[in-house]
Amino acid sequence: MEFKLCAIASGSSGNCAYLGAGDQQFLIDVGISGKKAIAGLGEIGVNPETINGILITHEHSDHIKGVGIFSRKYNTPIYATQKAWDKMLADNMLGTVKEENIRILEKNVYMQHGELRILPYSIHHDSVDPVGYIFEYKDKKITLATDIGMIDEEIANHLKGSNGILLEFNHDIRMLEAGSYPFPLKKRILGSKGHLNNEDAAKTLVAIYHDGLEWAVLGHLSKDNNVPDLAYLTAKTALEENNIQIGRDIVVTVAKRDKVSEVYGF
Ligand SMILES: [Zn+2]
Ligand SMILES: [Zn+2]
Repeated sequence: MEFKLCAIASGSSGNCAYLGAGDQQFLIDVGISGKKAIAGLGEIGVNPETINGILITHEHSDHIKGVGIFSRKYNTPIYATQKAWDKMLADNMLGTVKEENIRILEKNVYMQHGELRILPYSIHHDSVDPVGYIFEYKDKKITLATDIGMIDEEIANHLKGSNGILLEFNHDIRMLEAGSYPFPLKKRILGSKGHLNNEDAAKTLVAIYHDGLEWAVLGHLSKDNNVPDLAYLTAKTALEENNIQIGRDIVVTVAKRDKVSEVYGF
């Protein structure tokens, strides 16, 4: 496999993914301790010193907790939008960051690293300037789409043509509504700048399905308002209603909160 993705941790308690493309290797967020990220990379045989950069989706702590530590330890460049940087630096969210490791991302502009093309695209979430990522290498496309309040046409278009995707299946609406979260928090999660629910995520998966979509990793599951089997079943049902069979047409798995996923790729 020369183009691959692995969810090192995924869920409301911490997110970190690994993306490798030829000689290019990136982490998307380090929302777990530096120690856990390093151990996770070790499990898939990646030397943390060889990571070319950390790509930030947004400045919530479940995405940046370990970023500063990792960057200081391995002198790793950190990529984020200007607005996200302004917030992270003003609130000292990462601790000391070397000037040379502050790298600015332009939304909707491709960044080229070797043969890998990286596109940060705009998403709806209640943080300063959140992005998802598209990775293109040779003729394949891997997409990361988490922390999304709603999928609009522009985002749907970005996700189309993916050959592999890490897609948010955050919560089950009924579990959230019946659960113990205070009303404002429920409203936030359900809102258009919150998180994607199982049904909407499943619909999205069906909408972007094409023969070339080989795998989907369901991620960023809520600890309190979802269960892996339910997320999987919602995806399976929606796919089957459209004559798409898991196993025959697509591989679907649920990323674990605190276990390193398999490595998916091409
Ligand atoms: Zn967030
Ligand atoms: Zn998150």
